[in-house]
Amino acid sequence: MSTAVYPGSFDPVTNGHLDIVRRASKMFDRLIIAVLNNNSKTPLFSTEERVTMLREITAEIGNVEVESFDGLSIKYCHAKNAQFMVRGLRAVTDFEYELQIAQTNRVIAPDIDTVFLTTNLKYSYLSSSIVKEIAEYHGDIRAFVDSRIEERIMKKISERQGNITI
Ligand code: ADP
Repeated sequence: MSTAVYPGSFDPVTNGHLDIVRRASKMFDRLIIAVLNNNSKTPLFSTEERVTMLREITAEIGNVEVESFDGLSIKYCHAKNAQFMVRGLRAVTDFEYELQIAQTNRVIAPDIDTVFLTTNLKYSYLSSSIVKEIAEYHGDIRAFVDSRIEERIMKKISERQGNITI
């Protein structure tokens, strides 16, 4: 059975991530979306919230699971008996960083292959940070995230800004 781990921050999950999930779920028997519990970053959503949101919007895809993890993604892959790690590539800027990580991981764990999926052109500009920035200024983010995620983002931002309505 082929198992792949798709690690990331997913703060929050965008349509670009979801597109990678849909495509990767067809390539492997089992796909585990792994939400990084990163203490050094200050996320908009807690790890638990990010896991809940991902579970909600991937519920209809049968072979996808969502979990959180700490530490090295490669160690998490071993713990889950995964043979593959999935990453998305948007532009040349992603490539340099991703290649370095993949090559380092290959030295540490030669049994795990990193599989890169190039972004759907529709989402090549899209990142969680851009979505958060637009939402901070009450812009329309409906083209970038699932409607359930949009609601949660706007609620979270209005709580943070101390507003009742946006
Ligand atoms: P990280 O903090 O690991 O970069 P992200 O949540 O930003 O986590 O991204 C997780 C993975 O999804 C990365 O491989 C990233 O390149 C990919 N990704 C993010 N946005 C997109 C997008 N719009 N299209 C394709 N892949 C994407």
